[in-house]
Amino acid sequence: MATARMDLGFVNDDCDARLLQSHYFPSKVGGKPAWLSLNPIPKTEQLSCPRCNNPLVFLLQVYSPRDKTEEDAFHRTLFLFVCQNSACSTPNDASNFKVFRSQLPRMNQFFSSDPPPDDPADEIGPAPSAQKYQPLCEVCGCIGPKQCSQCKSVSYCCKDHQTLHWKAGHKTACGKHVSHDSEDPSACGVLFPELELEIEEETYSPEKSTKDETEASQEYQQYAENVNTGQSGSGLGDQYSEQDLEGMAAQETEDDRIFKKFKKRVAQNEEQVLRYSKGGEPLWVSSDHQAKQEDIAVCSCGAPRQFEFQVMPQLLNHLGVDEKEGNSLDWGTLCVFTCRDSCAIGSNYTEEFVWKQDFSADR
Ligand SMILES: [Zn+2]
Ligand SMILES: [Zn+2]
Ligand SMILES: [Zn+2]
Ligand SMILES: [Zn+2]
Repeated sequence: MATARMDLGFVNDDCDARLLQSHYFPSKVGGKPAWLSLNPIPKTEQLSCPRCNNPLVFLLQVYSPRDKTEEDAFHRTLFLFVCQNSACSTPNDASNFKVFRSQLPRMNQFFSSDPPPDDPADEIGPAPSAQKYQPLCEVCGCIGPKQCSQCKSVSYCCKDHQTLHWKAGHKTACGKHVSHDSEDPSACGVLFPELELEIEEETYSPEKSTKDETEASQEYQQYAENVNTGQSGSGLGDQYSEQDLEGMAAQETEDDRIFKKFKKRVAQNEEQVLRYSKGGEPLWVSSDHQAKQEDIAVCSCGAPRQFEFQVMPQLLNHLGVDEKEGNSLDWGTLCVFTCRDSCAIGSNYTEEFVWKQDFSADR
């Protein structure tokens, strides 16, 4: 089997926010979504949590043109959303996540067919924005069909976000002729910190082995020897047959093996928050709950879906989730599978497939 190219994503918290706007076709974490297709963007129903119905919040987007020669996917971005309600988070269950694919031809109604200036200061005219085509929620940047009934100048996706915005400062700004720019949407505590995602090819040498790995394999060898000679320190030999013990040891070593492989691979690029390899293989964190082909729903066009990228647990360190009360956002890894054919969807957003795998309970 040919090894697919593997790219890694790293966060950069020192990026000019102007470079994270839609027409720069960014890959990024947090902030508001930088929509690719500016109209129509996903509807409120598409962006509500299937479990609690609350609005999903933008987590990250990855710009990944399928192939620059592909007429209708010259631009292509995947958008990942999550429900922040801790009650919706269950181990090995991705139902509080949704991922959408958007793509556009080079000649489209929203963006120039030429790339934007390297220096955003050289820009002429207003930046293309989804706001031009439909009202956006002031708090989360998704579609905002509800207006503030007093000033009618700001919109919201739902009552909750309106209330948060009111408390965070709109109460004093409403109806006064002050620039809404002074109302910081991050003050509402909904958005994740906005960070650029820098993608580069993985450098990895399989020969390098870490100290951890050597120690773990020695420990296991010791354990296996004890089991074989019936000298297990815990007295297990009295209660279980040799066969049982071999079974337990084999099971343990399979999960250990996968976890060690994961740790070894990550150790050489510890800051990675994303692994990208279209048509490649995810790096699993456990032997449990690995997605098999039959687990992955086929695309509505009938084509199978293939692996495209995975979000690593390291990203959690950058999301400031510990500071948020009642938030239990967690994952071992989030694997995104997309239509093998990147089928034509016009300027719509189509839902793709997310799989969540958690670390085994004893990690
Ligand atoms: Zn929910
Ligand atoms: Zn909102
Ligand atoms: Zn108002
Ligand atoms: Zn498809």
